[in-house]
Amino acid sequence: MAIFTHVNPDGDALGSALTFQMALRKRNIASEIFIANRVPESLAWMPGAKSIKHNASKTELDAYLKTADLIACLDFNEPGRMDQLAYALENPPLPVLVLDHHPQVKEYEGLQIASTRYSSTAELLFWILKESGNLPLTREMASCIYTGIVTDTGSFSYNASSSATFKAVAELLEIGFDKDRITELVFQQFAASRMKLLGHMLANRMVIIPEYHTAYTYLTRKDLADYNYQPGDTEGFVNYPLSIAGIKFTAFFIEKAEYVKISFRSKGNFAANEFSTQFFNGGGHLNAAGGKSHKNLSDTLKEFEEKVKAYYNEF
Ligand code: 5GP
Ligand code: MN
Repeated sequence: MAIFTHVNPDGDALGSALTFQMALRKRNIASEIFIANRVPESLAWMPGAKSIKHNASKTELDAYLKTADLIACLDFNEPGRMDQLAYALENPPLPVLVLDHHPQVKEYEGLQIASTRYSSTAELLFWILKESGNLPLTREMASCIYTGIVTDTGSFSYNASSSATFKAVAELLEIGFDKDRITELVFQQFAASRMKLLGHMLANRMVIIPEYHTAYTYLTRKDLADYNYQPGDTEGFVNYPLSIAGIKFTAFFIEKAEYVKISFRSKGNFAANEFSTQFFNGGGHLNAAGGKSHKNLSDTLKEFEEKVKAYYNEF
């Protein structure tokens, strides 16, 4: 089975894909996980992460798909999230199983199990494994599922209002994985330069537009180089301005070689995903979305301000 999860994999992408692979292995089903780019250093410790195919060529993927009988897509709702591997989902040669917690999942020949009621794909997978008689889980599986839940909820601060999420975590704790160790591995292993990059962003790269309850931050390629940026370092940076009183919408712009990557976060019913879909080629959840812009950074920022001012009330 070919398991796909999204580019720039986060704790939920990896946690759900690796748990799924471990569950398949218990049933003697062979699989490979394909991702469009590398696993960030902060998640490289996850059990099984080392054998993920992160630089597969089209030839390699096509050859694997010829030997497989199913494609499983975890934690993403549209092919574009596979970047250069998206072609395999445009006209998939195999049935497609989707397990996801995003809205508007693309439908394929196969089976799609997706609901925004779950905090994370990892939590959805936990309930599927439980209901389908695949318990007991191992400690490694519990660690991976917990990592997915804790990262996708910002340590239980959003997408975590359902008692089911806490019931799942309670059951995982009963299995006996080391929760404190995961906190340390995921949130407390960064280089000092990453803290300084955050400080630089907050002090010098934050713009507040109080009349639109909006604040945004950005980092240039030079900023990233100056502070020895490593992939994964800016995970969570977008959230900081939301802690300012009165701010309900925030965006974070990061200048990449080919485009500007954007993250959006909101509070309440401001639809970050609709804003992103409409203006910045993206999508995501109501309160957490992302997108990209092919304009340069300063034009992108200008465009963002214009769109916020023109459309704030619509969202
Ligand atoms: P992040 O800001 O952490 O990169 O992404 C937040 C959420 O937005 C992700 O969970 C994902 O659902 C969505 N997202 C991020 N980037 C994109 C994108 O380029 N396209 C789409 N459709 N969704 C995205
Ligand atoms: Mn997720």
